[in-house]
Amino acid sequence: MKNLLDLTGKKALVTGGSRGIGNRLARALHEAGAEVVIFYNHTCPDGLAQEMQGDGTAVHAVQCDVADRSSLERGVKAAADRLGGRIDILINAAGINRRYWLEDFPTKDWDEVMNINVNGAVYCTQLVGKYMLAQGYGKVINLASMNSFVSGKRVGAYVASKDAIAQITKAFANEWGDRGVRVNAIAPGYIRTDMTKALQDDPASYQGILDRIPEGRWGTPDDLVGPVLLLVSDAADYVNGIVMPIDGGYLAR
Ligand code: NAP
Repeated sequence: MKNLLDLTGKKALVTGGSRGIGNRLARALHEAGAEVVIFYNHTCPDGLAQEMQGDGTAVHAVQCDVADRSSLERGVKAAADRLGGRIDILINAAGINRRYWLEDFPTKDWDEVMNINVNGAVYCTQLVGKYMLAQGYGKVINLASMNSFVSGKRVGAYVASKDAIAQITKAFANEWGDRGVRVNAIAPGYIRTDMTKALQDDPASYQGILDRIPEGRWGTPDDLVGPVLLLVSDAADYVNGIVMPIDGGYLAR
């Protein structure tokens, strides 16, 4: 039987590919056979792309600030050029969080969260979508969150951005579904990355979250690999516009 999860010959772009979830997912696409471009903003260790590539198909690193429309235009063009003019898979994993009480939330930080988490994903999808719609094929994965479903304290901008991501995922799916481009989101639970380091390092927060996870442990980027490979593969061609929790049962509590 054909391996439905095989990505040999596919061309992929992953924003936020330098660290954390984006980096793990970029590695997974590459391990499944895709040629991959990773976008980074500030940090991309020397030789990262080379190390990810190993003996497999090419991995390219491109600097791109997803909050800056002109940087995105240059970055997507550079990515498409490296990938031979085709982009089959886009993972919008770039994201940030800023923690303030809402009554004091600085405008600058609110705007940064919205520009990176929402506008960055929307404009990147728009620009990459030009290639996908012309090809009549594409798979887009957005990074939603538990905070697309439940809110919290001192995360007002983040929860607003992740609710927006859930809705824009469905909006793109509505408009592009009959043109061969599927747009879905994953909603990870609490995952061990730099983004959640402060929560991991605070014993009360760490334990409070752990107590609510039926699986009995925090997640790691590895936990997201299987569902994402499924969603970007031909096995999930009839899956469109979903926001898939991958949370160890957190939402079932
Ligand atoms: P992370 O470890 O902090 O990594 C963030 C990534 O985003 C880095 O690669 C960073 O690039 C990139 N980035 C930030 N600002 C950027 C910009 N302006 N332009 C381009 N790239 C930018 O975070 P993570 O935990 O992997 O999170 C990845 C995504 O998953 C985010 O959208 C996050 O909201 C979502 N998510 C995370 C969790 C969790 O528990 N960790 C749960 C649900 C959803 P540089 O390295 O260059 O700075």
